[in-house]
Amino acid sequence: MAGIEAPQLPLSSENYCIVKVAVPVPLRRVFDYLLPENYPITPQPGMRVQIPFGRTTKIGIIDEVESLDHSDLDTQLEKLKPITQILDDSPLITESLISLYRWMGQYYHAPFGEIWQTLLPTALLKGKPAKLSRSSRWTITDIGRESLESGKLAKSAVKQKLILEQLIKNPTGIAHDKIKDFDIPYSSLKNLAGKKWVSRDYITDNDKNIASQVNLPSDIQLNDEQLSAIETVSQHLDRYTAFLLFGVTASGKTEVYLRLIQQVIEQQRQALVLVPEIGLTPQTLRRFEQRFNVSVVTLHSGMSEQQRLQSWLKAKNGEAKIIIGTRSALFAPLKNPGIIIIDEEHDLSFRQQQGFRYSARDVAMVRANLEKIPVLLGSASPSLESLSNVSKGKIKQIELTQKAQNTASLKYRVIDLKNQPMNQGLSADLIKSIKQHLQQKGQVLLFLNRRGYAPVLLCHQCGWSSSCQRCDTHYTYHHQNDYLQCHHCGSSRKAPHQCPQCQCDQMVPVGLGTERLTESIKHLFPDAKTARIDRDTTRRKSAMQDFVSSVKAGEIDILVGTQMLAKGHHFPDVTLVALIDMDGALYSADFRAPEYAAQLITQVSGRAGRADKPGEVLIQTHHAEHSMLHQIIHSGYGEFANSALNERVEAELPPHTFLAMFQAESPQMAHVKYFLADVKQILDRYSNLKVELLGPAPAVYVKKAGKFRYQLFLQTSSRNQLHQLLELTLGDIEKLKSASRVRWRVEIDPVGDS
Ligand code: ADP
Ligand code: ZN
Ligand code: ZN
Repeated sequence: MAGIEAPQLPLSSENYCIVKVAVPVPLRRVFDYLLPENYPITPQPGMRVQIPFGRTTKIGIIDEVESLDHSDLDTQLEKLKPITQILDDSPLITESLISLYRWMGQYYHAPFGEIWQTLLPTALLKGKPAKLSRSSRWTITDIGRESLESGKLAKSAVKQKLILEQLIKNPTGIAHDKIKDFDIPYSSLKNLAGKKWVSRDYITDNDKNIASQVNLPSDIQLNDEQLSAIETVSQHLDRYTAFLLFGVTASGKTEVYLRLIQQVIEQQRQALVLVPEIGLTPQTLRRFEQRFNVSVVTLHSGMSEQQRLQSWLKAKNGEAKIIIGTRSALFAPLKNPGIIIIDEEHDLSFRQQQGFRYSARDVAMVRANLEKIPVLLGSASPSLESLSNVSKGKIKQIELTQKAQNTASLKYRVIDLKNQPMNQGLSADLIKSIKQHLQQKGQVLLFLNRRGYAPVLLCHQCGWSSSCQRCDTHYTYHHQNDYLQCHHCGSSRKAPHQCPQCQCDQMVPVGLGTERLTESIKHLFPDAKTARIDRDTTRRKSAMQDFVSSVKAGEIDILVGTQMLAKGHHFPDVTLVALIDMDGALYSADFRAPEYAAQLITQVSGRAGRADKPGEVLIQTHHAEHSMLHQIIHSGYGEFANSALNERVEAELPPHTFLAMFQAESPQMAHVKYFLADVKQILDRYSNLKVELLGPAPAVYVKKAGKFRYQLFLQTSSRNQLHQLLELTLGDIEKLKSASRVRWRVEIDPVGDS
């Protein structure tokens, strides 16, 4: 970036322009700068600026611009430094997003710089120009055509042949950023380019005929519930309304989204679709891309900075009609917004748990309101927050009660593990069922939410166990590659073969993880083809897709996996789903644990019996009498949610009440305690406000990566008073001496331990 010369202060001019800049530092304030005299660009909120900051320069975002006349000049003003440079000639984001930014500042009480870091693509934060790169396309050359026809291509070059055939089918070429949708591996393409059999050229905006989709119109006949859902939402396309599409798994929710998007596109508007984890469900993405003959862009963390910037810019200039992405795609600027859809709205990935913490579901409702468009939340197991909003009249509920393709019903069975002999974590009952389903050519899905081989490695002689010193938790033993890993801080080391305490060589793994479960399954069912799906086996980019394909092709009989498997995959031949260990979820300290467990059971069982094969769901637990299990099994998720909401009311917990949390961490426990005690003292000054303080108390995992973590909760039945309290006190809390010795944050509507 070429900075212009730092100019003199404009002390002689009549008007001063003060530019208030949000800077990426953890402070809840903006910083004042002067606009150099005669600067060629008029500063506006949402433009990036380069500014001197301390001894360095930083890139900040203009928050506000204030003009003062000469008489306001005081010594304060004289000290202000001028900005170095304005980096954009127009605001980067739309007015409604600027309003959203201001709302987030007020609601989440977060440092403004941190909010911007969430709002903008990384490339822009680093100062890269907000410019679309030219698009290019691939076409087949005459040499390529001849070579293919005269059979010059080696028999083994299957992929190259496929590419050439695709290019012949699309004579106007295939857009470069769409080659992956045609299953074209880039390496083979480059190979062909080297031989001059294919060529790449740049295209202009007028070149509209390039194939960017494999368009597959739908011939599905919608059922009455789907029709009525679409009818209801489409009556509200011109204004803000929030909808909850509460539809059982495979009830055709996605089909409803697609039809609504169709209408939005016909109105020349854009649809923003948020999904939990795009990398895990490439086929969902495909389904959207293949349906429409318009530009679909994605936004997720698996993309490079430049790719994300390009998608973002296409959303901004209106070229992209459908924007599909994970949580942060919510902030894509839209030229002609039409609808926001959040699929699997209950999913925890919609909550940002690092840096600036927000709920994409909540912010989406505010954004839709600002944009005056509907927002549609879909789930088979909606969050209690959304259901509570339904009962308050803030969200309209639409139901899909039937599976779209008439499928045989599900049979649930709870296996009470008390006093049962177990074989490597499997009850005799479960083993028998697996056998039966395999005999009847059904696929089996075993679900265990713990990766690795065993959660503990223990010395059989003296009882020594390996634990992470930085977290005070056990290392998980990973058998493959023989290492220990802490699943809290991620640190790992070689597994000891000798006990460090008594030097004996009897180290035994205790407990069950997916790796060990897979091993025992292979042992028990040597003829079945078994595969494991968890973070460890899906590090490769296409791994998940490959697993899904081989399950669908019937190449896998038993699938062992973590909750990665629970997310939206369609496995038509799975007839048995078993939850190996529901005890952890049922006995957890987190008041939300039963809700999460109920969502998990609903989602996981949705994987079974999709086609017209009867499905069975087995749940292993020592807590077979738990009321949640009975509600889910006999009355469904809705019934469970009703009684869970009543329990939250009685216990005065969210969503009935509202929570905020101060969390502080430091390698020195005393510093954390001092700070939170100081915070409490400041908050206590306003005891007239109806906010109850709980704590300070240790976090569930008090030590993580060498730091001690304590929390102070603020609970209230009045959101307003909570915000008032924070507004009155955060300034003083920031200035506390004890604050400088810890890392701390305030979190609104906190979720889980993080
Ligand atoms: P959900 O999003 O609720 O899980 P989907 O929209 O993925 O459900 O639908 C599940 C399956 O049923 C898909 O294969 C879809 O193509 C099909 N489907 C959806 N609606 C209908 C319908 N009205 N008739 C027949 N099949 C349908
Ligand atoms: Zn020992
Ligand atoms: Zn650790």
